[in-house]
This record gives sequence, structure tokens and C-alpha cells, in this order.
Amino acid sequence: MPCGWNPVPKARSYVLVRKAPKDCALVPQSREVSHRRMTMPNYVSMTSIEAIPATTRAAVTREFSMIADVADYPLKQPSELAPGECILKLECTGVCHTDLHFMNGEWRIVPRLPSVGGHEGVGRVVAIGAHSKSSVIKLGDRVGTKYVVGSCLQCEMCRRGFEQNCADRVISGYQVDGTFAQYMVAYLDHLIPIPDELPSVEAAPILCAGVTVYNILKQLTDTPPGSWVVVHGAGGGLGHLGVQYAKAFGYRVLAIDSGTEKRDLCLSVGAEKFLDFKESANLIADVKALTDPLGAHAALVTTHVGAAYVQAGFYVRAHGTVMCIGAAQEVSGLPMALIIDQGIKYIASQTGGRQAVYEALSLAAQGKVRCHVVQRPLEEINSIFEDMHKGQLAGRAVVTF
Ligand SMILES: [Zn+2]
Ligand SMILES: [Zn+2]
Repeated sequence: MPCGWNPVPKARSYVLVRKAPKDCALVPQSREVSHRRMTMPNYVSMTSIEAIPATTRAAVTREFSMIADVADYPLKQPSELAPGECILKLECTGVCHTDLHFMNGEWRIVPRLPSVGGHEGVGRVVAIGAHSKSSVIKLGDRVGTKYVVGSCLQCEMCRRGFEQNCADRVISGYQVDGTFAQYMVAYLDHLIPIPDELPSVEAAPILCAGVTVYNILKQLTDTPPGSWVVVHGAGGGLGHLGVQYAKAFGYRVLAIDSGTEKRDLCLSVGAEKFLDFKESANLIADVKALTDPLGAHAALVTTHVGAAYVQAGFYVRAHGTVMCIGAAQEVSGLPMALIIDQGIKYIASQTGGRQAVYEALSLAAQGKVRCHVVQRPLEEINSIFEDMHKGQLAGRAVVTF
């Protein structure tokens, strides 16, 4: 046999071994490399660690409305999984405002019907599809599944860590069923291990809300620690995490929201000052009075109310930054002449890539960020949507199974 690469079968996986070429003049015997065992990706045969039911309890969207039908829903069996697919048994899932937009069919992208929403799931891998590439994610691991569950991993956006902008991205609850189910099909390439220190219910909201605010705050490269950051919509799921990540970056935070419950939450998670927008006769003047006469250095707008983006243009200082993450469809009345004159930057971002998720989870595991969680059973998911729609949820609702 000539020297070189020879496939050596090992059970149902294959390992390429470079044989020591005793009689091959091209590779000297003394070189260590000639004996080194080189490993190519293993391929796992179909495996599961528990019996998988034929159906799962799920909140099913059957028509575009705010009402989901909690019912039994078909579930793929391990033998039906494609390579790279696995089955998660979820412990919990966060509920995001995006789910509500999807369910109402009010966005540019609308999910197929019936479908299952949700994209902040934490659970254990209980089955892996046959012929899946060997992965850092193993059977039994506690992992998170997020908004983007698939991307090509080859294009410029994927190479730069913007998998959420990949032309071939796959979105949970849109192209594929999501986390509002006790069992779900997930995708090994985009699963994220959950740090041991972090309880599942506190990890789940980091997978969308947490990484979204973390990822855009990370882009404030010209805003030094000690600067004022206004968090608009600070008492909600995104907002109260935004307050904490902003603090972790060393900023001073003015929180804007309304009501005693949200005020108490914002101050308890580190906001230095609070402004109740319903009690303010002149929000722009009040922000400047509470921060600095020049205005705040930056604003993190987490609400979908368009007026907040307009106000931020007036209360940030020259060369300030307005971070846009609240899902307003259109905003009218932006003061463009002022924005240009003052050199104000509007930057936007949707969720974050896999590395950003690792980083956002790490800060939570270190105790620098802690999600305020309201736990509810799946059967109450419609009342969660109702509270969310009315703006009555302080912190993040998490469904537990
Ligand atoms: Zn989300
Ligand atoms: Zn890509």
C-alpha cells in the first residue's frame, strides 16, 4: 500500500490515519508528523437517551391572531431526523415581543400555518440525527436554542459573525417550529452550551433579549465608561437587561418607563435615575436635566413606539448615538436636519451571532446581569401575550415545562 491517507473504519464512524510509512522515502522516519494521528470529523449514528413521544404539548399558531392553541402537536422521531438535527427536551422558554408580531402576521415575514413560535429555549439534547457531524454538543447536554437556528456558515456575513444577516438564515418560529413546545427539533450548529452557574430560566431570556442589547452596546466604541446611556423602555424584557449590560460596560443609566413596578425594577437592577414618561411634560428637557445639559451620550431604544426614536434624536448630545432595537415598523418625524447638523448616529442591530451569545451568557453567569423572570406554565401563554401587548410585563415572562 502506498504511503498516505487511509480510511480506517471504526464502528460506524470513520477516522483518517496517516500510517507510519516504513518504506516511503518522501517522509523521513524521524519526523513526528509521520506518526501523528489526524482526526477528521466523526459522524454519529442515530442516538437517543430516552423514548421520544409521537406528539408534544405546544402552543400552536393556527391563524394570524394573538391567540395560540395549546394542544398536542406532531413531533419528528429520532429515525426521521436529518444529519445535524437533534431533539431538545425543553425546560423553559422565554416569550419575546417578536413572537407576538409573528403570530399576528404583521411583519414583512410571516410564518406558515400551523406553526409553533418561540426562540429562547433551554433544554437537554435527547436525540441526535444519524450521520450528524461530531459536535461539541453531545447527548444530554444542557443547551440554548435561539432566534437564528441555521445559516450557511460560509458567506461573508457568517464569516464576520453576523449569522443573523446570512441570506440563508433560518429563523425559529418562522421557517421552522420554535420553542413553545416541550420537545422540539433543533440544529446542532447553532446550539449554545449553557454555563453551569446559570439556572435555565435565567439563561433563556439571554438567548434573544440579552444578546440583542449586549450586541448593540458592544458597538459603542467611541463612548467611554462613565458616559450617560438612556434606556428607553427600561422596565421590559429587553430594557431591564439593557440597563444591566450598560452598567457592565461601565455606563451611567437613566431608565425611561412608566409605573411603580417598572420604576422599582429599573432602580433595583442598577439604573441611577428613572423618568416616568407619563408624568413628564417635556421628556427631552427632563432627560437633559437628569443627565447633562448637553444631553446624554447615547440612547438604547427598546420600545416599538416610533416617537421614542424621534425624542432620542433630540436628547442625545452632538455625536451621540441612538441604538435602535425596538421593532418599530416605520418612524415619521425624525429631525434629519438636526441629526446631520449634530452628527448624531443611528445604529441598528437585530439579535447577535453565536459568539455574542457566548459573551452575553458569560456575563450573566458571572452575576453581572440577572434577568427578572416571571414564570408561567404553557397553558397561560395567551395571558402572557395579552400582558405583553398591554405593556404590563415587568421583566421577562418565561414558560416552564
Ligand atoms: Zn426575540
Ligand atoms: Zn451565511
